[in-house]
Amino acid sequence: MTLQPQPVDRTLWFEAALLPDGWGRDVRIGISGRRIVSLEVDVARSPADEGGGVALPGVANVHSHAFQRAMAGLTEARGPSDDDFWTWRELMYRFLDRGGPEEIEAITALAFMEMLEGGFTRVAEFHYLHNDPSGAAYSDRAEIAARIVAAAQATGIALTLLPVFYAHAGFGGQPPSYGQRRFINDLDGFADLVARCRTLTADLPEAVVGAAPHSLRAVSPDELTAMPALAGDGPIHIHVAEQTKEVADCLAWSGARPVEWLLANAPVDPRWCLIHSTHVTEAEWRGLFARGAVVGLCPITEANLGDGVFPAVDFTRAGGRFGIGTDSNVQIGVADELRMLEYSQRLTLRGRAVMADPERSTGRALFDRALAGGVQATGAASGLSIGASADIVSLDTSGVAFAGRSGDAVLDSWIFGAPTGSIASVWREGREVVRDGRHIARDGIEARYRKALSAVLG
Ligand SMILES: [Zn+2]
Repeated sequence: MTLQPQPVDRTLWFEAALLPDGWGRDVRIGISGRRIVSLEVDVARSPADEGGGVALPGVANVHSHAFQRAMAGLTEARGPSDDDFWTWRELMYRFLDRGGPEEIEAITALAFMEMLEGGFTRVAEFHYLHNDPSGAAYSDRAEIAARIVAAAQATGIALTLLPVFYAHAGFGGQPPSYGQRRFINDLDGFADLVARCRTLTADLPEAVVGAAPHSLRAVSPDELTAMPALAGDGPIHIHVAEQTKEVADCLAWSGARPVEWLLANAPVDPRWCLIHSTHVTEAEWRGLFARGAVVGLCPITEANLGDGVFPAVDFTRAGGRFGIGTDSNVQIGVADELRMLEYSQRLTLRGRAVMADPERSTGRALFDRALAGGVQATGAASGLSIGASADIVSLDTSGVAFAGRSGDAVLDSWIFGAPTGSIASVWREGREVVRDGRHIARDGIEARYRKALSAVLG
């Protein structure tokens, strides 16, 4: 299932649009093929114009494990002991026993579709489910990667594919456990996988391939040194310092905290995106900032898992960059992630509007930063400018939540005050893939997902 080619040469008109230099009013965007070819402001709507409401550039989702969408809401019970990960792990094991390529593609397509409906136009898929349920490599090592590419094609979302290198159960090169059998690779196998991912995405417009060492638990120092070359020109993403146990284990292994260890031993630079980085000292976040790396914050998942709170206010005031990711995909939406990010900071700091800056409201500052951090972390541009891919999200501002709002107050009202469903349309490469809040292929994608879930959970 692949979406039809996009129409060429059309115009969209919006009452306002967030352009690279700020808000424009009465904006007409001309599209030819996949790209924005003209921008006019202060022009009246003409009968041929499509669109309406307020236009925003599409934001990149910097961190997703799409298949985990299927577990949302099923992992909220406690086990017989104090183990609060019990239901999550039980369900994960059942999924690993039963989820084949068909099911994974169906679940991934649902997650990607919901990302588009939630305002994300690109996803960095942190892909670690490589092997078959027995733990053997598929005859095509990139079988599951191919399914992710197919899901991107079926939904129209732009893809930054991050094949994950995963080899160990813990710090110091511990051998992998049975539960990790579907993730495991050696360096030769991984190099083949990355090469296959490049071939698979060669015909996918604007696809990016990078490399993702899973974490310092799962990758040895020697293996980590191989990653930048394998990533080529693409980004390098790694999970780091998500939970306090990881920090304690890293200290016991190396005498250094996880981010401290990475800064001292890896060539961290603007190509790197450090996912979570939740538990960092001031010296560590200042080090990250100095190296120009992006922090990949996943506020809803971090809240769902009880990870902790990254010091985002201090970090961004110093000039640090972040992107937002949906990670476990328990809930999917740009506004939802930004709201959770701000509220987690407010609860920690006991203050209001903490991520705002003197020039910009909270919503505007959050949105601008997530947009820029997403561009850097996924290796692909986004923005409403001539020559850019026509990746546009429109808000339906006819709802009461937007009454009397203009400028940054539209973003603030969308993030903090509007009901879900305020996104009207999403254009990807000039093609309207979400219309009236629904993906154009939703019915088929949903039906396939329901069938896959009965196979996995039934
Ligand atoms: Zn993750």
